[in-house]
Amino acid sequence: MTVLRGARERRVRTGGIELCVAELGEPGRPVVVLVHGYPDSKEVWSEVAARLADRFHVVLYDVRGHGRSSAPKPLRGGFTLEKLTDDFLAVADAVSPDRPVHLVGHDWGSVQSWEFVTVERTRGRIASFTSMSGPSLDHFGHWIDRRLRRPTPRRVGQLLGQGAKSWYVYLLHTPALPELAWRGPLGKRWPGILARVEKVPGGPYPTSSLPEDAAHGAWLYRDNVRARLRRPRADAYAHAPVQLITPQGDAFLSEHLYDDLEQWAPALVRRTLPARHWVPRTRPDQVSAWITDFVTSVESGRPEPRPTGSNGQRFGGQLVLVTGAGSGIGRATAVAFAEAGARVIAVDRDAESAARTAELSRLVGAAGAWAETVDVSDETAMEKFAERVRAEHGVVDVLVNNAGIGLSGSFLDTSAEDWRRVLDVNLWGVIHGCRLFGRQMAERGQGGHIVNTASAAAFQPSRLLPAYSTSKAAVLMLSECLRAELAGRGIGVSAICPGLVNTGITATTRFAGADAEEEKRLQKRSTRLYGLRNYPPEKVAEAIMRAVVRNEAVVPVTPEARVSKLMARFTPGALRAMARLDPSR
Ligand code: NAD
Repeated sequence: MTVLRGARERRVRTGGIELCVAELGEPGRPVVVLVHGYPDSKEVWSEVAARLADRFHVVLYDVRGHGRSSAPKPLRGGFTLEKLTDDFLAVADAVSPDRPVHLVGHDWGSVQSWEFVTVERTRGRIASFTSMSGPSLDHFGHWIDRRLRRPTPRRVGQLLGQGAKSWYVYLLHTPALPELAWRGPLGKRWPGILARVEKVPGGPYPTSSLPEDAAHGAWLYRDNVRARLRRPRADAYAHAPVQLITPQGDAFLSEHLYDDLEQWAPALVRRTLPARHWVPRTRPDQVSAWITDFVTSVESGRPEPRPTGSNGQRFGGQLVLVTGAGSGIGRATAVAFAEAGARVIAVDRDAESAARTAELSRLVGAAGAWAETVDVSDETAMEKFAERVRAEHGVVDVLVNNAGIGLSGSFLDTSAEDWRRVLDVNLWGVIHGCRLFGRQMAERGQGGHIVNTASAAAFQPSRLLPAYSTSKAAVLMLSECLRAELAGRGIGVSAICPGLVNTGITATTRFAGADAEEEKRLQKRSTRLYGLRNYPPEKVAEAIMRAVVRNEAVVPVTPEARVSKLMARFTPGALRAMARLDPSR
């Protein structure tokens, strides 16, 4: 049974083997060849292929010994990278005799595609290569070699880390055992394991050929891994532009494997996404969007605008939602993620300012930017909104719960209504965001990150800010609890705690107990003070991105926030004494 609806099939003969080739999309369009991994067949690509077929002539084939392609006889020696390259060339010549093809590989499909794109005899036949979760064995060999020759504690750590992740490779080298396991209990359990561990959605994948695919595919490892790692080719340079997609939660491959890749693939575009190993099944939207962008840019002769710096590598193409994005810290954060090539949803209760942020985000290079008008304190509106985001854009990769309002004034002057207003936005807004978008992230099972904007007021008591500080202390504790709960699911949670930041918040902060005129005066005064302090919201945005990259728990931003945090820990008495001061007197 095939899960590739509407595919045209043909057989391609090469060196005594018959390959089963499926095609989707209009011939004449740029050709994209998808190469599957282990233990898979071409059907692993069904979701990605369906999405690419609108724009491209999509070609998939069962690697020899897999799916409905025939197997070499004998199996030993039948799966060498040289023979796999013959197969690829035979398919490319059959489907696209005159134009080079765009190659995409996952897992072992990527390992063999690295061979295709680095050997001389395929020069001119490959227009681009997108690699997912499968390194070149030659690059891997050099990577190990460099670490053994010049060991530093960091490099030894990397070696041991990858060594531990490669346990299955050693097992696959044992004779007969893997075949027995795959044709027996492992073959039966595999779909369940994929669903449970990798969160691969159920359905017609994996196909019924799995036990045979896996048994035959063990020879991919046995025929190549040891030989190549021992004697890696010195000239394994890519002769086509390469896009590398790295899932951060890959159980089999360390991200460090690709540290030196620019040396082998100079025109390299890096993408990273919070996901596990099987991205063609779990993240088909994101994967096909990146393939489309890359292939289109190569076809048009315009090099892909590279996302800038290390943040670009980390956030390019990711879906980032920022609340309170119409002003101050939220706007700076949305724009910073946009600059790094993320897709940005700018949320604010003020439609005009959210639209302006989305516009700015597009100007600085967002892969997509949308404005949304939502009041984060409105539970029903947030529920509807979260559903709509999932339907229209997919699950958010990074959520920044930033919307907040100020409220100053003594406890005795603060009315119940004042309390409700500040808690509704500052605390409930964060709860709704975490509950709704956090649940989507957890259900997707591919990780993600939640940032909550708390404040230095969360650990610094003050007689002037009882309601505001309480709301922020609650956000801090909520973040800590959630961090503990979601850690096992690969979802990080950070609480950002800025001190005084020069934003519009001072102009809207309410002062409990003050009449309108007095409130205006106090607002003006704090605006002046924050202006003099002049700490830019862009620096908070930088801290937010760093917190996501490093998965930091609590991040004080500004020197005064860092000092408060230290005092809360080491000299709480002094902090309490300061809390009694009233600078308005
Ligand atoms: P800001 O007033 O410049 O921006 C806040 C944005 O949130 C505004 O665009 C506003 O329209 C939006 N907003 C308010 N209530 C909303 C709601 N219910 N739903 C949707 N959007 C809403 O303020 P800022 O300084 O950028 O503050 C951002 C966050 O940083 C807040 O949570 C604030 O408490 C926190 N913070 C600010 C400072 C500071 O000194 N500015 C210090 C520490 C923490």
